[in-house]
Amino acid sequence: AGRLEGKKALITAAAQGIGRASAEAFVREGAEVIATDINMDALGALKDQPGVTLRKLDVLDGDAVKEAAGQIGAVDALFNCAGFVHHGTLLDTTDEDWDFSFNLNVKAMFRMCRAFLPAMLENGGGSIINMSSVSSSLKGIPTRCVYGASKAAVLGLTKSISADYLKQGIRCNAVCPGTVQSPSLDGRINAFDDPVQARKDFIARQPLGRLGTAEEIAAMVLYLASDESAYTTGQFFVVDGGILN
Ligand code: NAD
Repeated sequence: AGRLEGKKALITAAAQGIGRASAEAFVREGAEVIATDINMDALGALKDQPGVTLRKLDVLDGDAVKEAAGQIGAVDALFNCAGFVHHGTLLDTTDEDWDFSFNLNVKAMFRMCRAFLPAMLENGGGSIINMSSVSSSLKGIPTRCVYGASKAAVLGLTKSISADYLKQGIRCNAVCPGTVQSPSLDGRINAFDDPVQARKDFIARQPLGRLGTAEEIAAMVLYLASDESAYTTGQFFVVDGGILN
């Protein structure tokens, strides 16, 4: 049997990158997956996967999040993957940049957890996986001021949820990737004046000498969603090609 047989999972930002790879891994292991994103065109790539329901969900829209939770009810695994990488030092960061990143990377995650938790509790528990990064309280990465601050907040939120709901069967862990090949990374690289050099620089900060793949992160998310990780909660799991070695 698959590692997620009989489980229902919801993934945000499932249209591409780590979210999509996680949706594919969950399906492969027998889960029923509700794959959500704001980009329905890209999300369509998952339409032929067995057991997948595609749903538009803008995690910044609090009413839409509540409505989704009301309609979907209990899930066994909730993977909060949506996030945005702002490029800039502290002096490059405007109030608007700060608020946008905190709204998407942290507040939306808080709202997703708050909306889905009651049904999960009623159902006897479940696993929440929150997307953080090595760029967080784990390490200062250049030009990641608000990104690092927001992903550090994700770790605090994760530990809080774990502490409060552990006795009621909820596990909550975070995943902290290094640099992972994804459409948005390509976009960030292409925004440099010299994209060829920029890609070399991204690779150079990975001690393993290459970028990570979305599938390598999805493997950790899958573990955390499955009962194989039943004895772990409130932790962060680094998959970073040796950045923190
Ligand atoms: P990505 O950035 O290429 O894709 C992000 C997806 O999020 C897109 O499909 C987009 O449509 C969706 N999205 C954007 N705003 C949304 C919203 N308001 N509601 C719902 N969905 C929304 O994918 P990625 O690079 O794999 O990043 C996914 C997560 O992983 C992010 O939280 C990111 O910070 C984190 N992360 C990525 C890397 C990396 O190097 N790629 C490293 C560490 C952490």
